[in-house]
Amino acid sequence: MENLAIIGSGPAGLTAAIYAARANLDPVVVEGIQPGGQLTQTAEVENFPGFEQPIGGMALTDAMRRQAERLGVRFMMDEVTGCQFSAAEKSLELAVAGTLHVRAVIIATGASARYLGLESEHKLRGRGVSACATCDGAFFKGKRVAVVGGGDTAMADALYLARLAESVTVIHRRDAFRASKIMAERVLNTPNIKVAWDSAVEEILGVEQRKVSGLKIKNLKSGETSQLEMDGVFIAIGHQPNTGVFRGQVELDADGYVVTDSTRCSVPGVFAAGDVQDRRYKQAITAAGSGCMAALEAERYLAELPDLTA
Ligand code: NDP
Repeated sequence: MENLAIIGSGPAGLTAAIYAARANLDPVVVEGIQPGGQLTQTAEVENFPGFEQPIGGMALTDAMRRQAERLGVRFMMDEVTGCQFSAAEKSLELAVAGTLHVRAVIIATGASARYLGLESEHKLRGRGVSACATCDGAFFKGKRVAVVGGGDTAMADALYLARLAESVTVIHRRDAFRASKIMAERVLNTPNIKVAWDSAVEEILGVEQRKVSGLKIKNLKSGETSQLEMDGVFIAIGHQPNTGVFRGQVELDADGYVVTDSTRCSVPGVFAAGDVQDRRYKQAITAAGSGCMAALEAERYLAELPDLTA
């Protein structure tokens, strides 16, 4: 029987682990088969307090993990494939290690990139279509790429790609970006970034050649369609929470986010932190903050549980 299992190893899970370890809760982190969260795919982080100069997302995550390890946190490179949560008993089914019985759980599984849902997009994933500029940008040195979306992710991706690619075209469905002003201004002031406003991607071209060759876009105001020659397309239209495995075990909202009261889930002893329960802020620092809150709530919950070994 484990005391506290933390599922996920992004800033929420790692911060929860650091706090839980310091509270002598002996936590175990089920870190997934690809440890780290979305932060590891962020080239530069310049808004995490404590770092005067920008720090790489991977370096920041690594530092949090090493801090947790130093405090005695145990890590399992494993994936949760099922779970049973009730007030009285909780267990996790792990792909490699089998059943893990736990007294309390913190869900910190984050969110994954959303795609447009086009068949051509699906067929060309990994063949010029990507949702991770920092992972795949290097394949497009000196080439033409498009970024779809108008939020901060799209801006960050466009700025990153502009340093590598010959040209970047941001395709946004409205006439104003959703992104923060500072990021939007940087994009608009970068000479090799163009913006296709009021435009939607109708098709990604190149399925027959098995390699992206362009895009068919539609101007949503005029109804006109046009084709753009492209070597790559980066989809940056937001994220969906990674909660499939918890469906039916804790309350989820209509979009699949875990419903929380502070960080408490609908089942006593189950807590959630980070993007898996946050549709509003979605920052590394807010994820870390809610990880701290979840650990403090778990500590209180475990302190009030009857000691079954006594
Ligand atoms: P957002 O939800 O903020 O933005 C998604 C964008 O994609 C919007 O512009 C939206 O358009 C567009 N979009 C959504 N669905 C579609 C679709 N089907 N077709 C075309 N376009 C679509 O997501 P982000 O991932 O950009 O950001 C998430 C959070 O992370 C935000 O809080 C952001 O501030 C934060 N973040 C912060 C960074 C930083 O440097 N501080 C870096 C990256 C992210 P519309 O505007 O019309 O809704």
